Amino acid sequence: MSNTRPDTAPEILILGAGPAGLACAMELSRKGKRATVVERDEQIGGLAKTLTLREGDDVFLTDIGPHRFFSKNQYLYDFIEDLLKEEWRKVPRLTRQFVDGKYYNYPVNFQQVVKNLGLLRSARIGFDYVWARLRYGLFKKPLRTFEDYVVANFGRSLAEFSMINYSEKIWGIPCADIHPDWAKQRISGLNLWSVFKNAIGLGGKKGPKSLVDEFYYPQFGTGRIYQEIGAHLQKNGTAIHCQSEPVKVRHDGTRITSVDVKTPQGVVTVTPQKVVESVPITRFLELLDPPPPPAVRSAASQLKWRAQVYLFLTLNKDKVTDDNWIYFPSKDIPFGRTSEMKNFSKDMCPPGKTSFFVEFFTFEGDAIWSMTKEQVLDLVMPYFEKWGFFTRAEVRQAYLWKRPHVYPVYDSHYKERLDVIRGWLDTLQNLVYIGRPGRFRYTNQDHSLEMGIIASRILLEGRRYDMDTVGSENEYFEKGPIYEKRI
Ligand SMILES: Cc1cc2nc3c(=O)[nH]c(=O)nc-3n(C[C@H](O)[C@H](O)[C@H](O)COP(=O)(O)OP(=O)(O)OC[C@H]3O[C@@H](n4cnc5c(N)ncnc54)[C@H](O)[C@@H]3O)c2cc1C
Repeated sequence: MSNTRPDTAPEILILGAGPAGLACAMELSRKGKRATVVERDEQIGGLAKTLTLREGDDVFLTDIGPHRFFSKNQYLYDFIEDLLKEEWRKVPRLTRQFVDGKYYNYPVNFQQVVKNLGLLRSARIGFDYVWARLRYGLFKKPLRTFEDYVVANFGRSLAEFSMINYSEKIWGIPCADIHPDWAKQRISGLNLWSVFKNAIGLGGKKGPKSLVDEFYYPQFGTGRIYQEIGAHLQKNGTAIHCQSEPVKVRHDGTRITSVDVKTPQGVVTVTPQKVVESVPITRFLELLDPPPPPAVRSAASQLKWRAQVYLFLTLNKDKVTDDNWIYFPSKDIPFGRTSEMKNFSKDMCPPGKTSFFVEFFTFEGDAIWSMTKEQVLDLVMPYFEKWGFFTRAEVRQAYLWKRPHVYPVYDSHYKERLDVIRGWLDTLQNLVYIGRPGRFRYTNQDHSLEMGIIASRILLEGRRYDMDTVGSENEYFEKGPIYEKRI
């Protein structure tokens, strides 16, 4: 990445080199435009970067949590395939929930639930579902919260078993306080009836392989997509300035006029014609000079972010399980999900060894957030030893990372607050704000890439596109064909 000082008068300045910012820079570069990119971290790729851990001659690679790629947009598959060629591979999927010592497939598999829970509890699930359909379907109980959505679609017992506990773990708030947008994004089109139809063979299983069965994944980690974009940009004259961040963003109420960027070489004032921002929206608002109106500042101060703590363990063991990742919905278990990178690609660790990635959902400053690596290791090991996953003696090295702005919290009021903020930000005519942190929107890589591509079109064509249509498909997000390679 570039060691020089940023260009002081670029046509386009991009803040943040995650998937959204990089896709924007890439599309601009393909059309012959060179942007200047500013990234706070020392490595590009944002939450989708892959980290390299060297232990003597052994190299372990890990994503920050499991990162499979899925999309309904063929353009994105082609975009990545052009970058990665034969490194872009299809991977079989196994993801399960671990509840009370038993595994359950995810998304829910009807026969397995009946087998593991027994007839009585399964009958209860069926009864609750019929009752929910009556209340929400026939008697039109309004769907006001995430809890309403999952109960209406699965009945109370299955909703609690499969989704409510895990969602509360992710968000750190009761499901009755989670905005229904979360359900619309995550479970639209999925319900107990569709799960049952699949179980008895009426779910269209004979069609193309679905995203539930397989996904694409780069041979050496999801971050390869972003390394390749970085390499393309470098070759074509787009500078990416890492370990650099905006510290002041001046505006005149209609346009951004200049941005002070702190770089390892000192603070540089940049006067871009246009700005694309993909850093946390709340941070961006803090940088504005003059500050936004009080109503906007007040709305921003009430948006919440969920943070994450990650423990990565390298192991002297060939394999822990066959799962790509495992969910742990039980609130008695302090972590929420684990993943084993070897089950994404065997090239993520040395032969005969494996690794285990443990995710905690937390708020900044919470008990887990404040723990040391040794404390977190002491906390998790009794679980892994009890379940026969691995022993402490098999742990080679432990690594601990903490990230603050990981999940934009969709609480009951986030939408009104965001509308206030966006209403004001939209008056800055040379600003486009994109991505998961930039739009305060729960996106996966595909949606962030798509936003970056749309941003490039806004800049090149001068037209307005509705960024909120990205990822708003009205069906379950994992449904749909897995695209075939072109070559
Ligand atoms: C645990 C986990 C699992 C996930 N699993 C999947 C998955 O299976 N599939 C999938 O497709 N997606 C997955 N995602 C989501 C995916 O990582 C994100 O959608 C994607 O990274 C968002 O890209 P972005 O560019 O919008 O934001 P980010 O990745 O957050 O990028 C923002 C960039 O801005 C930089 N930045 C922040 N503040 C500043 C600042 N002040 N100045 C300069 N730069 C700054 C950051 O360092 C970062 O590089 C997962 C995410 C997590 C956390």
